[in-house]
Amino acid sequence: MSFSRWALLAFIAALVAAFFAFDLQHYLTLEMLKLQQAAIEAYRADHPVLASVVYALIYIAVTGLSLPGATVLTLAGGAVFGLLWGTLIVSFASTIGATLAFLAARFLFSEAVKSRFGDRLNLINKGMDRQGALYLFTLRLVPVFPFFVINLVMGLTNLKAQTFYWVSQVGMLAGTVVYVNAGTQLGKLESLSGILSPGLIGSFALLGVFPLLANKIVEAIKANKVYAQWVKPARFDSNIVVIGAGSGGLVTAYITAAVKAKVTLIEKHKMGGDCLNTGCVPSKALIRSARLLAQMRRSADFGIKKADAEVNFAEVMSRVQSVVKAVEPHDSVQRYTDLGVEVIEGEAMIISPWEVQVKTVGESRIITTRSIVIAAGARPFVPPIPGIEHIGYLTSDTVWDLRELPKRLVVLGGGPIGCELAQSFARLGSEVTQVEMLPRLLVREDSEVSEAVMATFRLEGIHVLVEHTAKGFIIESGEKILLAEHDGKELRIPFDNLLLAIGRVANIQGYGLEQLGVEISAGRAIEINEFQQTNYPNIFACGDVSGPFQFTHTAAHQAWYASVNALFGSFIKFRTDYSVIPWATFTDPEVARVGLNEQDAKAKGVVYELSTYHLDDLDRAIADGVAHGFVKVLTAPGNDRILGVTIVGEQAGELIAEFVLAIKHNIGLNKLLGTIHIYPTLSEANKYAAGVWKRNHAPKGLLWCIARYHDWRRR
Ligand SMILES: Cc1cc2nc3c(=O)[nH]c(=O)nc-3n(C[C@H](O)[C@H](O)[C@H](O)COP(=O)(O)OP(=O)(O)OC[C@H]3O[C@@H](n4cnc5c(N)ncnc54)[C@H](O)[C@@H]3O)c2cc1C
Repeated sequence: MSFSRWALLAFIAALVAAFFAFDLQHYLTLEMLKLQQAAIEAYRADHPVLASVVYALIYIAVTGLSLPGATVLTLAGGAVFGLLWGTLIVSFASTIGATLAFLAARFLFSEAVKSRFGDRLNLINKGMDRQGALYLFTLRLVPVFPFFVINLVMGLTNLKAQTFYWVSQVGMLAGTVVYVNAGTQLGKLESLSGILSPGLIGSFALLGVFPLLANKIVEAIKANKVYAQWVKPARFDSNIVVIGAGSGGLVTAYITAAVKAKVTLIEKHKMGGDCLNTGCVPSKALIRSARLLAQMRRSADFGIKKADAEVNFAEVMSRVQSVVKAVEPHDSVQRYTDLGVEVIEGEAMIISPWEVQVKTVGESRIITTRSIVIAAGARPFVPPIPGIEHIGYLTSDTVWDLRELPKRLVVLGGGPIGCELAQSFARLGSEVTQVEMLPRLLVREDSEVSEAVMATFRLEGIHVLVEHTAKGFIIESGEKILLAEHDGKELRIPFDNLLLAIGRVANIQGYGLEQLGVEISAGRAIEINEFQQTNYPNIFACGDVSGPFQFTHTAAHQAWYASVNALFGSFIKFRTDYSVIPWATFTDPEVARVGLNEQDAKAKGVVYELSTYHLDDLDRAIADGVAHGFVKVLTAPGNDRILGVTIVGEQAGELIAEFVLAIKHNIGLNKLLGTIHIYPTLSEANKYAAGVWKRNHAPKGLLWCIARYHDWRRR
């Protein structure tokens, strides 16, 4: 904590201590007030302005310092100044005092709370962004929590001070009037509990429920507005129609059928979507062939003198297809039909919030449905770079059709897909140039992660060009050339094939969203709320089409929320939980992450401690000839709670699972360290990372004493 914070804390503590030490509390009792009422009123009659100012200042001090006595002071306001002036002064003084307490709590403690509970606080803050004012209003109306607690707790969120001020003033007004009014009857009041009769508490509770009710009414009005122009069918063919049979759509259909609801799954292209056909599965199959080749090239390192390998690229690609074929039954029409899903192979078009038209070969049919889940996925982004339309390019959709290895391949983009494919093609024998506009590959990861990957890429012969911007494509004497800009200079990069890997755009056009007016986010994906709902409450979206993540496992995760909320949302709705999202990039070295890395922590202002274990020390990694990379763990300062983990190295995607479980279930590094890991395995690296943390937190003083004890025992 900074000096100014300590100074303020000491000042406040001194004032509070003085309040209790001098027993000022006894002036703020009902008895004392009744006793002094005549004298106070006489003073107010002689000095009305001064009396008001002094009263307001005392009120501000009491509420600002969170001292007991605000209730009696409010009554005094009524007794001395009457209902109108009393309400006016108390309303402003209490709000100013509450806001001072709010600001002091924010100044003193928000940093500390952020560093300790950063990620959880983010969730609360997201909620506060949306509904903070309403929530505060409810708390102000219903005197369930002491007001000083609300002031202090709200100070730790990201609620704007001005919002806090006006919502508090408006929210407390009803209570202020009641208490000030009671003060005008002070002579008749015998105890404070008389003010809060059960009837009054009931009225407050009703007032408190009102904003929630108001919120529901606003939601209903909004929903009515979007539905106004549509006619709702009298009955429905399906409970849910799912558009798209990729990762998101398949899981939605699976869950819906599992709970015995009628579900129709529509797919216009291939069951399994991107992941099976053009994404995860083929890319991992390609990586496997490339990796085997890379290992064979290292055979001498393992004492095998000669391990010649001759690549047959067409065979490699046909193996990729046979892997896709082998996985296909998991996502097949047959499997899902057996599970109770109605699968239609055709193109879906939403024609009303409850109707989906499906076009199959030579046929068109309209299905009525209570809810729709859109899981229409994304496609590769093709940038509008001059000349691109004439150059011919590959994307992650089309690269799998190649049967001839590109001689010189330019990979545009340094994200996970670009990196995985660049390394695979380079290992298979292409001369690869990877072009990235930003200063490093894999920019979402910490810089040392990028450095590790870039170093391996360069060692393997990939021309990694960072801070190079593609400006145009030309063909000169039959040769394709990329014009790139670096450091203000133009570079010419000749190539035979171009692979675009610079991001993916959500599929949001051509199937009725525009006609319905389904809202689209700034990032050009379907806008959804925390329940996966679009602006039509019965239309949901999940997976790449809505984001915010573009992974198979996040599409599946969201699908659970979309289907359950679509089916049971009238009774109970679940907010999608994004608190623990892991991912991996399957390059060599592999990169895996869960939770915060250093750059995210810094950007979010989360204070952390770092424990890094280097794999060059790990027995199994040494035995396997993969002794490079690291396990990097961020923990909350002073305790073993894991904030995030990055692993770079062999099997990182597998190793991270232990940390995913640990974070999800609040298992700290101490417990991880106390768990037996099999020797010799790569997973021991996780335990050793926990060991690094433990060593950094060794109780030095205690160990010194123990050492003296052992010295003494040897004497
Ligand atoms: C090269 C590559 C490698 C990847 N590797 C990984 C990885 O290792 N791990 C990982 O987690 N993720 C990976 N991904 C990402 C992953 O593939 C996607 O995040 C995932 O497939 C998204 O699933 P989805 O259901 O949202 O969309 P999709 O799988 O794209 O499915 C959408 C489906 O909707 C259909 N559709 C669209 N419109 C209509 C319509 N009007 N009517 C009927 N059907 C329609 C489409 O035909 C498509 O089949 C990779 C992606 C790529 C490109």
